[in-house]
Amino acid sequence: MNYQIPSSNFLGKSFDAKKTYTVIGAGISGLLLGYQLKKAKVPFKIVEQNNFGGGILQSVQTDFGLVEKAANGFVWCKEIQAISDDLKLEILPPKSTSKARYIVKNKELRRIPLSFFDAMRLVRTFTKKQAGTFETLEDFGHYFLGEKLTAQVLEPAFQGIYGAPAAQLSFPGAMTQLANAFNEVNYLRPAFKKMRGNSTPFERKKRSAGTHGFKNGMGEFTQRLTEYLQKEIEWNVDGQTLMDEKEHLILTTPAYTSKHFFKNKEEKMFQNLDLVKYNSMISATLFFPKTAFEKFKEGFGCLIPQKEGLNILGVLFNSCIFNHRVKNENLISLTCLLRDDSVNKEWLGQDDSHVKSLIINDLNILFGVKQDPLEVVITKWANGIPLYSPTLYQSWFSMDKILKEQFPNRNLFGNYTGEISVRALAQSSHTLIRK
Ligand SMILES: Cc1cc2nc3c(=O)[nH]c(=O)nc-3n(C[C@H](O)[C@H](O)[C@H](O)COP(=O)(O)OP(=O)(O)OC[C@H]3O[C@@H](n4cnc5c(N)ncnc54)[C@H](O)[C@@H]3O)c2cc1C
Repeated sequence: MNYQIPSSNFLGKSFDAKKTYTVIGAGISGLLLGYQLKKAKVPFKIVEQNNFGGGILQSVQTDFGLVEKAANGFVWCKEIQAISDDLKLEILPPKSTSKARYIVKNKELRRIPLSFFDAMRLVRTFTKKQAGTFETLEDFGHYFLGEKLTAQVLEPAFQGIYGAPAAQLSFPGAMTQLANAFNEVNYLRPAFKKMRGNSTPFERKKRSAGTHGFKNGMGEFTQRLTEYLQKEIEWNVDGQTLMDEKEHLILTTPAYTSKHFFKNKEEKMFQNLDLVKYNSMISATLFFPKTAFEKFKEGFGCLIPQKEGLNILGVLFNSCIFNHRVKNENLISLTCLLRDDSVNKEWLGQDDSHVKSLIINDLNILFGVKQDPLEVVITKWANGIPLYSPTLYQSWFSMDKILKEQFPNRNLFGNYTGEISVRALAQSSHTLIRK
């Protein structure tokens, strides 16, 4: 049995350099597409409803340091390096204090890999032959890792990216490259080898060096892209005013907005887009004095399995990951993510005090908090991250077909069409247009 693999995350008719496109949205997806179109000297314009670019990627300076509202960084890739070099923007490597990564077990931070026995178990997975296909990430995890390691390691790691439990995530949707490799080989080791593909040892080293960023945060990247595209972007324009069927539109807007570009509610496109669910998420950045904790450890951050019963999904130790995240070296900056199932939808409209006390309570369990934070910045995302469910994975194929057959002048490209991360969006926009 084979997995169906999408040919690209640009849904609809293939990119045609002879067309003049209008990109709707100047979030990171629209900006990256715009950058590649401009480099390829293909005429285009971008329309954005706001008077600023970057969409949900926003960095804010506070009295104590930098706060990222969404992505804190990106996994290094040569495409972002090339854009940064071109825009004279320096990529910020991670600090050496970010090396240790932790999983919370019995309310204590434990360094990954977990234990000798857990490591042995992981080695055993390489000798196991894959049988049939896996619908969910949990199916994959249970088969190769067993229930314990799936709950302890795989699920928290993917929740940190997709904001949803393994049982709700599509295996071929969330791990498309591995599913693709399984179409040719049956064991994990050759499958991973295939996934690494043609990348050079330098690229592999850079990637494994962890998350990279920018001195002034991800907002610096979107700001430079916005400046580079200033002649092409029209601000304060609602893309829905450009509904002429002859316009070649690339919709980089979220699914719940994109559906309105297919007016008739009976339309299959409207229905498919309407089915795309988003996880509600809360991201909170807290600044503490270094002396505020009884037992803080340096590192990248910690992942928290669901069964630990905490509200937070994971903590990023920002000031250990990057320089320039705190105003002085006596401060610590932490970003906590609250998962969908612990985000009470009522909180989204309420003031932040309740959420703040829940977070501090969890941090107290983990680190022993002796002193109140100096500052807390809470960002509530009612529609944070698209749910990479089996339904979404199936819809990529149906939407691609419907667009090709019925809407040849509409394309979809965004964080719900196959790739969620900034790195992957940079890679796919490059491949799509420059290759
Ligand atoms: C809490 C959180 C943490 C994250 N962490 C990471 C991370 O560490 N690493 C990582 O790689 N990714 C991370 N992500 C994911 C990443 O940030 C997103 O996938 C990405 O920023 C989405 O960008 P986008 O351009 O597709 O969408 P958006 O940012 O939503 O942009 C869409 C744009 O379209 C515009 N628009 C909407 N409607 C219209 C209209 N009618 N007309 C004109 N314009 C319109 C909007 O104003 C917006 O500018 C995180 C996400 C969240 C929420």
